[in-house]
Amino acid sequence: MTDRMALSLAQADPDVAAALDHETLRQHEGLEMIASENFVSEAVLEAAGSIFTNKYAEGYPGRRYYGGCEYADVVENLARDRAKQIFGGEHVNVQPHSGSQANASAYAAVLQTGDTILGLDLAHGGHLTHGHRLSFSGKLYRPTFYQVRRDTELIDYDELEAIAVREKPKAIIGGGSAYPRLWDFARMRQIAEKVGAFYIFDMAHIAGLVAGGVHPSPVPHAHITTTTTHKTLRGPRAGLILCGQDLAAAVDKAVFPGQQGGPLMHIVAAKAVAFAEALRPEFRTYAAQTVANAKVLASSLQEAGFRIISGGTDNHLMLVDVFEKGILGSEAELALGNAGITVNKNSIPYDTNPPLKPSGIRVGTPALTTRGMKEPEMRQIATWISKALDARNDDAALERIRGDVAELANQFPLYAWKRAPLAVGV
Ligand SMILES: *Cc1c(COP(=O)(O)O)cnc(C)c1O
Repeated sequence: MTDRMALSLAQADPDVAAALDHETLRQHEGLEMIASENFVSEAVLEAAGSIFTNKYAEGYPGRRYYGGCEYADVVENLARDRAKQIFGGEHVNVQPHSGSQANASAYAAVLQTGDTILGLDLAHGGHLTHGHRLSFSGKLYRPTFYQVRRDTELIDYDELEAIAVREKPKAIIGGGSAYPRLWDFARMRQIAEKVGAFYIFDMAHIAGLVAGGVHPSPVPHAHITTTTTHKTLRGPRAGLILCGQDLAAAVDKAVFPGQQGGPLMHIVAAKAVAFAEALRPEFRTYAAQTVANAKVLASSLQEAGFRIISGGTDNHLMLVDVFEKGILGSEAELALGNAGITVNKNSIPYDTNPPLKPSGIRVGTPALTTRGMKEPEMRQIATWISKALDARNDDAALERIRGDVAELANQFPLYAWKRAPLAVGV
């Protein structure tokens, strides 16, 4: 073994080690309320940090372009079988490096360059990869968008149908990053059938709720379902595609060699571990608590005088209209950050403010639920959010809330090695 191999991270690279120590402390002491984030288990972390990172395994189990793939095949088959068991699709591809790449592959499997796609407007809760002009999806394809209704702030399926009839998209895309309500999968499929489009559902945000049986599944309705694996699903940072047997070959070809070279086998191994966790009864408890926490948080914020977009939530996230209280989303994000509560600024439907200074914030409960927090903590946090926004220009007050926040966070330990490897200040 060479010296290089024997050095610890702290010895080999003190700069990166110090950043990692600080990040560890940040994750332990703050309240993580970014709706797309979560905490993986120690087991998932171990697989993700494993020597599978050394292995090239282009191709699929049983037909690789490299030798020495027998154990890579084992973990990829486990990940595939478990994903199918969770979501019930006929075929699954566990190789996409991310949610965006899963979408790029799904589109490539069924679309030609220049084809029309119809997705939820980003400003109404959609995702960049659903046709935004700065994303590959808005450059390779001709994007059109549906929106939510101004009065109910719910998706306007009648408008969606009218646009679909007029624009004749080749794919109708469901799913989003900031939509707090249930989707009408059957209606979307019906509209897709009517205009001869593929129905692609991107369940990135809600996959863990679907896996936990607390949210309806798009899989039986969509021709292709895509997802990230690191949001509510609580696996490593990556993506996944489910489809029927009829599209299996096209999807697999679109992922490799279409979009990617070698799969990240350490991440595929970590997906297998996370999917086994999602099949256990405790995962259902986590998923149900995530939704229960979101409902209590939303109603507590309403009691504190905040307007919640669409009047509440059916899933793990909510959009809070802070501008109604004269606060910009960007100011709210900063003030809450100083109080130890991490959220993100977010546009609200029909926002009159620009995206970098929008009218809302997006708040989610999956990460705190993973830490073990329940309804009483949500009520307490709603109080802190309200207080911190009132005191947004009072640094001392924000600092005091930050102390209370850290105290609560410390009552819900994260990783066993919490402090041991820390050398903050190095
Ligand atoms: C997060 C998200 C993605 C993108 O995932 P990345 O892994 O960040 O590329 C795609 N679609 C939706 C709906 C998302 O919320």
